[in-house]
Amino acid sequence: MIKKSVLSVKNLNKTYSSKNSTIVKALNNLNLEVKEGEIFGLLGPNGAGKSTFINILAGTVIKTSGEVNVWGFSLDKNPRQVKASIGIVPQEVNFDPFFSPRQLLDLQAGLYGVKKKDRITEVILKLVSLEGQADSYARSLSGGMKRRLLVAKALVHQPPIVILDEPTAGVDVELRKKLWENIKSLNKEGVTIILTTHYLNEAEEMCDRIAILNKGNLVALDSTNNLINIIQNKFVKFLVNKKVAIKNGSLKSLEIIINEENQLSVSYEKSKLKIDELINFIKKQGIEIKDILTDDGDLEDVFVRLTKN
Ligand code: ADP
Repeated sequence: MIKKSVLSVKNLNKTYSSKNSTIVKALNNLNLEVKEGEIFGLLGPNGAGKSTFINILAGTVIKTSGEVNVWGFSLDKNPRQVKASIGIVPQEVNFDPFFSPRQLLDLQAGLYGVKKKDRITEVILKLVSLEGQADSYARSLSGGMKRRLLVAKALVHQPPIVILDEPTAGVDVELRKKLWENIKSLNKEGVTIILTTHYLNEAEEMCDRIAILNKGNLVALDSTNNLINIIQNKFVKFLVNKKVAIKNGSLKSLEIIINEENQLSVSYEKSKLKIDELINFIKKQGIEIKDILTDDGDLEDVFVRLTKN
């Protein structure tokens, strides 16, 4: 089944120019599409352009050029419909601590012009598991509950697309899981989710597809599985006292990068080969391993490789 595109970005550019006339290209000709019903991850190191992108969608940053369509509405021609189609969950807690969750949701619904009879406050409170705290001061909520209240606020106008900016930054593991569950149940209801995160395991757990931005450039856009496979590769460099007799495939998934008198560099898939098998293989040849340098394929590593190519 071909799913329709709910967010389409074509040749999007954002250039910031600062007072000392330096120009920063925060987004460089970005092209991507998000499909209805998916959980789409936007990853990238600091300065990659993630906030710029989200702020353009939110209408708080004006793009330099390019086309953005949300839920079929053009950001240039129908900015209000675009706004109505997205709910944004910000990074920072931004509500009055002396209001209760129920009051805050009502207030937010008012801001979005949702009529009293159309409000779904109870449903939302239940969805984010805050029905028990509906009438407590927001300030008395735990960190995780506050985060869930931020999610709830983004839902008052029932947007078909919800964008979460670093939803679990600074949230402990248990609460993070709870929040993931909330996001997933929201997604099961048919809401398309776009999230930015620093946590690779979060992206791995949550996202159907991932876009990686680096310095304003889209350096990867693929299914999570495909990207994780890149990340599964581990690089190891052994400093040795003589050349190792080894070939590609000597051990499962092993690929030789450099094999010289004093050095053996290889890559392999973590799921298929353990490092002690590799060490045993070398030691059996009576070779002394002087040092081992490993490079675990983490997100940064993927960035480096993707930007190099
Ligand atoms: P991220 O959210 O991925 O960390 P940002 O979108 O915040 O990235 O930033 C992308 C680039 O744009 C960075 O180089 C940043 O310094 C620059 N930038 C962001 N906002 C402004 C601004 N208001 N004025 C000038 N430069 C900015």
